[in-house]
Amino acid sequence: MNTRSTTEPWLLDYDVAVRAFDWTQAWDDLGGPPDAERGVNIADLALDRHVRAGRGDHVALRWIGRQADGVDEPVDLTYAMLASRTDRFASALRRHRFGPGTGVASLTGRIPDLYVSVLGTLKAHGVFTPLFSAFGPEPIAQRLRLGRIRVLVTTPLLYRRKVAQIIDQLPDLELVLICGATEDQTAGSTNRRTGGPRVVSLGSFLSDGSEAFEIGYTAPETPALLHFTSGTTGTPKGAVHVHGAVVTHHMTGRLVLDLHPDDVFWCTADPGWVTGTSYGIIAPLTNGVTSIVDEADFDAERWYRILERHRVDVFYTAPTAIRMLQRSGVELAAGFDFDALRLVASVGEPLDADAVHWCERVFGVPVLDTWWQTETGGIMIANYRSQPVRAGSMGRPLPGIEATLLARTADGELVLDADGSPVEIDDPDTSGELALRVGWPSMFRAYLDQDDRYRKAFVDGWYRSGDLARRDGDGYYWFVGRGDDVIKTAGHLIGPFEVESVLDEHPAVIETGVIGKPDATAGTIVKAFVVLAHDHEPTEELRRELLGHARARLGAAVAPREIEFVDALPHTRSGKIMRRLLKARELGEDEGDISALESAPERTERP
Ligand code: ATP
Ligand code: MG
Repeated sequence: MNTRSTTEPWLLDYDVAVRAFDWTQAWDDLGGPPDAERGVNIADLALDRHVRAGRGDHVALRWIGRQADGVDEPVDLTYAMLASRTDRFASALRRHRFGPGTGVASLTGRIPDLYVSVLGTLKAHGVFTPLFSAFGPEPIAQRLRLGRIRVLVTTPLLYRRKVAQIIDQLPDLELVLICGATEDQTAGSTNRRTGGPRVVSLGSFLSDGSEAFEIGYTAPETPALLHFTSGTTGTPKGAVHVHGAVVTHHMTGRLVLDLHPDDVFWCTADPGWVTGTSYGIIAPLTNGVTSIVDEADFDAERWYRILERHRVDVFYTAPTAIRMLQRSGVELAAGFDFDALRLVASVGEPLDADAVHWCERVFGVPVLDTWWQTETGGIMIANYRSQPVRAGSMGRPLPGIEATLLARTADGELVLDADGSPVEIDDPDTSGELALRVGWPSMFRAYLDQDDRYRKAFVDGWYRSGDLARRDGDGYYWFVGRGDDVIKTAGHLIGPFEVESVLDEHPAVIETGVIGKPDATAGTIVKAFVVLAHDHEPTEELRRELLGHARARLGAAVAPREIEFVDALPHTRSGKIMRRLLKARELGEDEGDISALESAPERTERP
């Protein structure tokens, strides 16, 4: 059994690793770079490779059903079991004449069939799109249409509640596979009158397949996944990823998440988001660990029980989840033993120093922040287990990744030099647009049907992330804000996060969203929406105290001028604060687009 003290980190010396890094060598750990015979297939490296190496009996997924005793009675699926089930899925796809490039999507909760469908599709050279099961019918229809999805995997309940009503709007859909259904339950669902898709049980589909599927040569550039972005800043974009990306997943799983083969790993993200696929499916499996999959939604006590009972070594979650754990109080956590836990990491939103220290107190290890996007496919900037954590910073670029900051004008345009090239910022602590040198293996290869937008994301060999950051004198990156969220007020450029993290430090505050509010005299003022901890009342006195606290820490120019107490903030389904909805609400605008439909302002939103 691993303990914190005896497992040596993979990345012992950051500077040495950066100097020595070479992408060709990074493949060595996966048996070498793609060759002429096999090429590279994510599912082969995730499953069959372990079986060939004699580790077929190792548990790949430990599935915890949503019922209360699920935590004590998990279902284990070994690498060998998954390898043969995915063979069946892949060969059934072929038998039903779904060839390479077929778009397959899932709309299910976190159940084993979801994992079988993803990896089975990859074996058959299809392109997989996992959809978050809590989406409403309209966002589901939009993504299925955009992705020209031909095969959908779903459950009887989700089919009845969400799919049946949109099925006429999906001309590309040919086959619906229903998990856990008998033929009786699917009979009659076929929409023959309008020539709609066939609806069959996943079980009968799998019985059409065979347990020995030959994956065949997979070129590294073969599309594998179509992921929609979270839609925090607008309508979600479809980012296309290829099989060759797997070397980034594997390598970041090792160097950042520090996965060792006997680890128990838990990534809390739903596979409907890129984190839940890159780090909930691919990286843990290529690294040969046991991955926890919990079907249930967030519940602080349940999460603590899972961490304790299953002796989770590595835990990858999101700042929203950490805030929700904080909200449940330290007393609850004190009743549990987290001595197996040696690494906690987070992604998705800025992680303030307060959360880092809270985790240190509760778990005995700090949270390591990591930064990346749907477009980057994998972690690009991170804090590492072997280095002292710099609380509040996103960390340093991964070995093999070159990052820079590009200077921007006050209007958000790039500053160009005499040759028309963007100007890189060398001075420490100066914010600019975070950009990455093109060419890392998991870089997205297209925005689906948006070639122009894709081209505009690149300049002079750099990928523009759209996020603003600064870099300190030691090369650590600090998140400033999304390009669109930055506030210009009285000659200052303010990132909402710096204001939010100061307010979040206050013991009465759970979560804050900061925006620029138009003002007749000042042009724009800083306004904060604040969610209070359950034991604090929204009084005038507390408002004054928070304004004073912010002013003392930030100075009058940056501190908020207005504070409004709210019960909850609007989040995307992936857990990010949607500041543009706060802005729209402030301006009395109607935000009627698809992302607004997906936002759920409840406190209980699952990250
Ligand atoms: P959309 O592009 O549709 O508006 P999105 O950008 O929220 O949605 P994702 O790709 O899921 O979609 O999220 C990536 C973004 O999340 C990053 O660009 C960044 O703004 C934010 N993010 C991710 N990790 C961090 C982090 N460690 N610190 C701060 N922000 C982060
Ligand atoms: Mg984005």
